[in-house]
Amino acid sequence: MSNSKKVIVVGGGAAGMMAAGTAGNRGLDVVLIEKNNRLGKKLLITGKGRCNITNNTDIEGLIQNIPVNGNFLYSAFYTFSNSDLIDFFEGLGLKVKFERGGRVFPASDKAGDVVKALEKYIKRSNVNVVNAEVTDILTERGKVIGVTLKNGRKLYSESVIIATGGMSYPGTGSTGDGYHFAKQLGHTITPLKPSLVPLEVKEQWVKELQGLSLKNVSITVLDNKSKKVYHDFGEMLFTHFGVSGPIILSASSHMRNIKNNQYRLKIDFKPALTEDQLDKRIQRDFEKFSRKHFINSLDELLPQKLIPVIVELSSIPKDKVVNQITRQERRDLIDLLKSLTLHITGFRPLKEAIITSGGVAVNEIDPGTMESKIVKGLFFAGEIIDVDGYTGGFNLQIAFSTGYIAGLYC
Ligand SMILES: Cc1cc2nc3c(=O)[nH]c(=O)nc-3n(C[C@H](O)[C@H](O)[C@H](O)COP(=O)(O)OP(=O)(O)OC[C@H]3O[C@@H](n4cnc5c(N)ncnc54)[C@H](O)[C@@H]3O)c2cc1C
Repeated sequence: MSNSKKVIVVGGGAAGMMAAGTAGNRGLDVVLIEKNNRLGKKLLITGKGRCNITNNTDIEGLIQNIPVNGNFLYSAFYTFSNSDLIDFFEGLGLKVKFERGGRVFPASDKAGDVVKALEKYIKRSNVNVVNAEVTDILTERGKVIGVTLKNGRKLYSESVIIATGGMSYPGTGSTGDGYHFAKQLGHTITPLKPSLVPLEVKEQWVKELQGLSLKNVSITVLDNKSKKVYHDFGEMLFTHFGVSGPIILSASSHMRNIKNNQYRLKIDFKPALTEDQLDKRIQRDFEKFSRKHFINSLDELLPQKLIPVIVELSSIPKDKVVNQITRQERRDLIDLLKSLTLHITGFRPLKEAIITSGGVAVNEIDPGTMESKIVKGLFFAGEIIDVDGYTGGFNLQIAFSTGYIAGLYC
């Protein structure tokens, strides 16, 4: 029997694997408990299966991209930064590559390779993996002593690291168990809300555009005082309930408590053209199709699916002959294409969100060690903590840095 200190890590996602491997590397006797029959199930679907591991910015850049409780992470990021993470993966044989906006991906474009590298790390660190569900954390006189498994078995340890993730995409195993454990042990759980989530809109016509994906559009989100809350350029998608896609998910994390349609989303379908350039472009098309009906004149300008909707929303009758369209009607069409307005009515539910905003209150966790200030020997790592980042690799960096620290100090 080993005389090393015993550690139990609950949850084999990004944070849990990093924590377990790091603790094992220190020679501790580590058991990693994962309720799925494989590790890193959520990691496999990150970055559309490519896994955006981190972001190649400086520490300030990391903090700026974590709008909720970013300051809590200074210590974690200085101890295990994004460049440490890249070195860590390259040391495990995983080459990385850098993309637009500092996004870092495995060179192979395969999230599975990230999971394999982490599995290699925990194997090398002699971590014992157990596939079971933890149902309770055991404590005695304010100190952690182990966990109970679903089959009733108890496992004892001197430290427990809770790395059970959030509540989004529950099919990956992130069903919020850790929030219950933490609450039972006296921790405060701040309200749990979806973040990086698709948006529902008032306009019913979006249903007609369901499935339409647009690559080069720009969006602007305005609040009820018409203050610009967010602006971005890139890819978005129409759905049966509203809008989704990368720039929409990012926009959602800049909105708080959607009520009374207070946010408007303006879409610019032709961001590369000024209004005058777009006018000239439309005039060229109108000359070409001068004898056609308006509805048949936009084929070279817009995707097919968008045409009937734009025609319906415009002030121009669909069967108006193009050479009869007035200058004012053309200007109105340009306004529509440069700033189509949607009224946001709500977020999609938590299970459809990329991350869960809220979690274990940060003032109850030591930022230098991730140890609970309430229960000795209890540590937290990853999305369970009340910190959340924008898209771009920041959420996984949070999971890896907090997991590393918890593994280092448990
Ligand atoms: C579709 C999608 C794409 C994403 N893409 C990116 C991206 O490209 N870049 C990025 O930075 N972030 C991305 N994220 C966010 C990122 O995946 C999470 O923030 C991150 O995985 C959190 O890591 P974690 O280890 O804290 O939790 P998780 O990865 O959720 O892991 C928690 C683990 O704990 C296990 N568990 C839970 N309860 C128990 C229990 N009672 N007993 C035993 N085991 C338990 C679960 O089965 C799970 O395996 C994405 C998220 C989604 C949903």
